[in-house]
Amino acid sequence: MSIAMSVDLKNLELPELEKLVELLGAKKYLAGYIFRYIHQQLGCDIDKITSLSKSLRTALAAQKYYISTFKSCRGIKSANDGTAKYVFELSDGNIIESVLMRDKDRLTACVSSQAGCRFGCSFCATGRLQFRRNLTAGEIIEQVYQISRDAGEKLNNVVYMGMGEPLDNYDNTLRAIRILAHPYGCNIGIRRHTISTVGIIPCILRLAKEDIHPRLAVSLHSPYQHQRVELMPIAARHPLDELINALGKYQHTTGRRITIEYCMIKRVNDSLDAARDLAALLKGIDAYVNLIEYNRHEGADYQPAEPARIRAFRDILIKSGFKTIIRYRRGRDIKAACGQLGAERIEQKIIDE
Ligand code: SF4
Repeated sequence: MSIAMSVDLKNLELPELEKLVELLGAKKYLAGYIFRYIHQQLGCDIDKITSLSKSLRTALAAQKYYISTFKSCRGIKSANDGTAKYVFELSDGNIIESVLMRDKDRLTACVSSQAGCRFGCSFCATGRLQFRRNLTAGEIIEQVYQISRDAGEKLNNVVYMGMGEPLDNYDNTLRAIRILAHPYGCNIGIRRHTISTVGIIPCILRLAKEDIHPRLAVSLHSPYQHQRVELMPIAARHPLDELINALGKYQHTTGRRITIEYCMIKRVNDSLDAARDLAALLKGIDAYVNLIEYNRHEGADYQPAEPARIRAFRDILIKSGFKTIIRYRRGRDIKAACGQLGAERIEQKIIDE
C-alpha cells in the first residue's frame, strides 16, 4: 500500500473511528480508547495505545493507519507580553505559524488553516506568500496540541485567524472544530472556536446551516466596496451589500452575534466618516466590533492609525450602539501580531534578493 493510501487517525471523528475499528473486526467501543489517546493524551504512536490488544495495534499499522505529527517545532516568546509564536514544519516540508495568546486565565491558540494563502490582502504578510495547500484537519488540530504541550497547560480558546482563510478550507476546518470540541477529546466547546473570514459569502451561508456554530468574525476593514477590493482583492467576488445581507441571514438562522474585525490603517480607512458609514452599514446586525491597530511589516507600505483617532472611531461606534473594543498589538516584537505571520520569510526574501 502506498503512502498516498495511508490514513491519519488524527483526521477522523469518533463515529468514523468506530466504523474503522469494526471493519477491523474489533468492538466499536475500542475506538474511544484511540480517540482519547490521540486527543486527550496527545499521543502519536499507535503502538503505545496499550488499552488496545496487540493484534489490533498491529492490524492498524499493517493497514497504514498512523497518527500524524509535525517534523519540527520552533517557539519564540515575546519579551513584552505572554504571546508566543510557533513555527512548524509539516511532514512535506511546508512551514506554518501559530500563536499562543495569554490573557489572565484565557489561553488562546491562533492557528493556521492553510500553508500560505491565495487571497493576497494588501495589509497582510501571509498574503504575500505563495499558496501551498490546505491543511488537513489533523494538521490544524496538531497546532493546538503542540502549543498546549509547550505551554504545559490546556488551551481554552482557538481562533482560526492564522495563515490562510479558514472558509477556503471549509471541510477540514469544520472537521477540526468538531474533533477539538468533542468531550472525549480536549473538549474545547464549540463557542470557544472563532472562525475569521474575509467574507466568503457562500461559505457563510453554508455555515449557518451546520449543526455547530462556532463564533464568526468577519474582516470588514472598510465600509466601502471599492476600498475593500483594494485591501482584499477577493472582495470583488463578494460585494459588500451581499456580504451584509449574508451576515443578516446568518444571524437570523443562528441567533449568534457576529464579530467585525476592522484593521485601523492611517489615512486609509480611519476617517471619522468611515466610522459613521460603518455604523450605518451594520445597522440591524448584532455586531461586536474589534478595532485592530495595524501591525507594520516590510511587505506593505501602510502606517498604523494614531491612537487618538482609533479612540474617536471607537466612540462613534459605541454611540451608535455597537460594543467596540480596541485590540492592542500583542506579540509585535516576535512578528506574531495580526497580519504579521510569515513576515520573517518575506523579510528574509527581501534581504536575499
Ligand atoms: S488576511 Fe487572511 S485571507 Fe487575507 S491574505 Fe492574510 S491570511 Fe489570507
